[in-house]
Amino acid sequence: MATNLRGYVGRFAPSPTGPLHAGSLVAALASYLDARAHHGSWLVRIEDIDEGRSVRGAAEGILALLDALGMHADGEIVWQSRRQQLYQQAAEDIAAHTYPCGCNRREIADSRLGVAPDGAAIYPGTCRYGLAEGRAMRSLRLRVPDPGHDVIGFTDRFAGEVIQRLGPDSGDFVLKRADGYWAYQLAVVVDDALQGVTDVVRGADLLDSTPRQIFLQRVLGVPTPRYLHVPVVRNALGEKLSKQTGALAVAPGDESAAVAALLEAARFLELPLEQPASLEAFWRAAIPAWSQLLASRGARLA
Ligand code: GLU
Repeated sequence: MATNLRGYVGRFAPSPTGPLHAGSLVAALASYLDARAHHGSWLVRIEDIDEGRSVRGAAEGILALLDALGMHADGEIVWQSRRQQLYQQAAEDIAAHTYPCGCNRREIADSRLGVAPDGAAIYPGTCRYGLAEGRAMRSLRLRVPDPGHDVIGFTDRFAGEVIQRLGPDSGDFVLKRADGYWAYQLAVVVDDALQGVTDVVRGADLLDSTPRQIFLQRVLGVPTPRYLHVPVVRNALGEKLSKQTGALAVAPGDESAAVAALLEAARFLELPLEQPASLEAFWRAAIPAWSQLLASRGARLA
């Protein structure tokens, strides 16, 4: 697969399953600050590959809100729903590593291998050596290496060393889903590579998906970006905020609401900021504050 190689390229990749909320703003802000602190570019990609989960108007709302917050993308917005052919091509390129799977959810759950940290059922490998008589293909899976060769490790700029064994921690994973949609893992890896993304900054809920993505990058022969996973915002009950939490109340042109939302997200990221008088003042203070935070935490983050 051909990729672009440039200086720092970061991105924010929201799924339009609801409005941008305080939790997703933290991921957006961290990726934006990291790109600006590195004098890099910052891309926005709408991850609307799962059209069933996409909410009408949510993507436009997210884009308008980013604009109102002063976070402007460098370059065209990319929409995954318009890139099916690229995912198809990538899957064809690695056909030797994939196989059709005829199992349904219940059959996989019945194998009692449990679920991966992200909630996906661990696949027992039933169809690895061919579909049984009379079974039709439901999904397309990527074969992970055999035990002993399936360890993927990387250094996250925030979380440090992360090590996963793909066999027990995920098993052969889905690239094309039974409902016909390309899986997030394939789309995200293909797009990060095609867009020349050098640095992925996102929420720690995706930390456990990263080894699968790194493995897929290796199979596709594309570079592995650097990763920085920021802590996930939780509510008073310790639950991750969901899209149902509600939109940030920032109307276009309401600068004080924009500053307040950004300041809250920045404080969550432990940026020591005074109350800024304007949006412009917020950004003027926040970008160097992020660089200082990285420097104070050591070389891994810089
Ligand atoms: N689309 C994913 C989400 O909104 C983020 C994917 C990523 O940053 O890799 O949770």
